[in-house]
Amino acid sequence: MDTPEHHPSSPVLLDTGRVRAITLDLDDTLWPIWPTIARAEQVLLDWLAAHAPATADWCADTDRWKAVRAAMAHSHPELAHDLSALRRESIRTALVQAGDDPSLAEPAFDVFFAARQQVELFDDALPALQRLSARFPVVALSNGNADIGKVGIAMHFRGAVSARECGVAKPDARIFHVAADVAGVAPGEVLHVGDDALLDGVGALRAGMQLAWVNRADHVWD
Ligand SMILES: [Mg+2]
Repeated sequence: MDTPEHHPSSPVLLDTGRVRAITLDLDDTLWPIWPTIARAEQVLLDWLAAHAPATADWCADTDRWKAVRAAMAHSHPELAHDLSALRRESIRTALVQAGDDPSLAEPAFDVFFAARQQVELFDDALPALQRLSARFPVVALSNGNADIGKVGIAMHFRGAVSARECGVAKPDARIFHVAADVAGVAPGEVLHVGDDALLDGVGALRAGMQLAWVNRADHVWD
């Protein structure tokens, strides 16, 4: 893990003596997200091929499927923090476009959602989680729709805060403050751990937290 403690624009120094709780990003911090999503989308396509074959054919054009999702995000800005709703409504649109039963959107989404929880943790993730949770309350803090219960790691967490429940997403300071509340400490007593320089890094520092930047891909802090 890197910390921005030596970076000239960093507003705080890492002071481990002040840390009384951990907030922890999930996607790309504990497991790689894109292989997870790609596999879940394949599971969804396989399900559609069996239950709504016209829609499966329609979605096989990945550009068309991407366009539906982009249009959905654009036309429903109120769902920007709810990736599950965006995906469910995109599936519904595809079903309608292909002439299939739109009520299949619910079970189709459920299949995708279950597959999306089948993550493969980074090798160091579980040992780190066990070590941290033995010492501190740990709260999951995610903009995505991973479910720590379904992933099978809930026993290591005090709680979970998501953009969907909060109505705002990282890097908004409010979601970090909700997570600090769930941890039962002040924001200044939280060490936030996450991979995204803007969403996790800038967000946590602006919310008055300390930061451990999980920089697996050797990105530049700028
Ligand atoms: Mg992440």
